[in-house]
Amino acid sequence: MSPLHHPTPEFPAHLEALYRQFPFERSLAQDPLSCVRPLASNPVSAEVAGIFAATLAIGNVTAIRGAFADLERRIGHDFVKLAEPAGAEDVRSALRSFRHRWIRGDQLAFLAERVAAARREYGSLGELFRGGLEEGGFAIGLDRLANGLRGPSGSSRKAPRGYRALFPTPTEGSHSPCKRLTLYVRWMSRSGFPDLGVWPGVPSSELRIPLDLHVHWIAYHLGLTQRRTRNWATVEEVTTQLRRVDPVDPIKYDFVLCHTGISGDCPKERDLRVCGPCVVRPDCLLWRPRRGAS
Ligand code: SF4
Repeated sequence: MSPLHHPTPEFPAHLEALYRQFPFERSLAQDPLSCVRPLASNPVSAEVAGIFAATLAIGNVTAIRGAFADLERRIGHDFVKLAEPAGAEDVRSALRSFRHRWIRGDQLAFLAERVAAARREYGSLGELFRGGLEEGGFAIGLDRLANGLRGPSGSSRKAPRGYRALFPTPTEGSHSPCKRLTLYVRWMSRSGFPDLGVWPGVPSSELRIPLDLHVHWIAYHLGLTQRRTRNWATVEEVTTQLRRVDPVDPIKYDFVLCHTGISGDCPKERDLRVCGPCVVRPDCLLWRPRRGAS
């Protein structure tokens, strides 16, 4: 068994330096959040567009942006109307032939119905999440949000095949990192750039890390987790470590860690040309002195 890997005592300063020098604007163009940011001035539009963008956030960003643009065109660029029950039949018809990876138009049309129903009952998806957060913490908030989007299991309007699996929750066996919903909550809640801050009353200190493959790779190699599996326990472990660096806004580092991987700034192997100027190199498992090395 390999020895546990921990970051250096200087890691908080190294991570903060990575954050401060990061080219946010360059990487924002490569992030699905760029689809939603133009709608930030209208919280309803941003909240509804955001859940569709987060649901479509599978695969490379060019395909995600293409799928979102296709969705926008089909619904006449009106996300507020999309979440109104009166237009459900039109939405079903407009999305019939939509496809992005394994996500189908009938699933997105059902999502529009569920968003409308949840907004009618709670006022907003933000309030639905916040109710659970205040009652039992972040995982319960996410569970409420996921179940609100799934809809009641015994309902007469049955969810399309595969729909419920799009919204895993951390309370069901914790096998999933629930990355897309966790990312959605970050977009809506954080007010620091590049997030939208359209959900008041959700403290940044309560957020959890949206653990995609890039974030997990770098978190493991910086010693923020010893876990090789991407599940909810790993989400909690990485978040706890980031709270030690910034207890008020630990998830501000998510964008930077994720896009360090996406952009190619991190080659994910020892490459002195690229790793040379990397400010977290002293903490990186690939560059720590090997046992027995003189
Ligand atoms: S030292 Fe290299 S491999 Fe390690 S995090 Fe930095 S860029 Fe990535």
